[in-house]
Amino acid sequence: MDVIAVKGLDFSYGNTQILKNINFTVPEGRFAVLLGPNGAGKSTLIKLMLGELPLSGQTGKIELLGQEIRQFKDWKKISYVSQNGMASCQNFPASVEEFVQAGLYTQIGKFRFAGKREREQVRRVLHQVGMGDFAKRLIGRLSGGQQQRVLLARALINAPRLLLLDEPTSGMDEDSTTLFYRLLYQINREQGVTIWIVTHDRKRLMAYADDIWLLEDEKMKLVQP
Ligand code: ADP
Repeated sequence: MDVIAVKGLDFSYGNTQILKNINFTVPEGRFAVLLGPNGAGKSTLIKLMLGELPLSGQTGKIELLGQEIRQFKDWKKISYVSQNGMASCQNFPASVEEFVQAGLYTQIGKFRFAGKREREQVRRVLHQVGMGDFAKRLIGRLSGGQQQRVLLARALINAPRLLLLDEPTSGMDEDSTTLFYRLLYQINREQGVTIWIVTHDRKRLMAYADDIWLLEDEKMKLVQP
């Protein structure tokens, strides 16, 4: 089954066309990478896939998990990690575990407190990203690489089928980047989570990627395999 299927997609901001007849699929369980120069439309494509930009007035369609995005309701199965995702939370007085737990609120409802089961889920995902010892730390006190791993933990808490990432390692040092990619690979291979990652880091991601796509001149090309 295809987790992502984009068919004949055009997209314009006003009179400026950004995407022209884009077609691609990402089968379940793939580790797919999207490359492309700045301004090519990679973030725009992710925003369309997240339903953050409306498709109304545009041609073509996007299907997630076999459902047309205009009718799609299963957003819990899709997670997103952005670039410097915690930049706006630096002074936010939340601990790592509180921040990750907040990812569960769609599941447990605003007015329910996390019980033993939810706390165990938080503990498990923090352990998975190597942040188990940091549960009580304030998120503003972590390094950029640690913050991105916490963001990854939050993205995993609802056991998504698809993880979308937009340059998640930008600004990270070499070791943190390597660690982050290894975690993604582990999540992909061990849990079967489909990964779609926008990056400039072709060289290092080549080892992990099943498919490498290039978005350039409004078009999408498969460059590997
Ligand atoms: P990438 O992620 O590949 O760098 P983007 O999707 O961010 O590219 O942007 C693609 C093009 O669309 C760029 O030329 C950018 O300036 C333009 N753009 C992005 N967002 C908007 C917007 N909200 N309104 C108008 N133009 C936009």
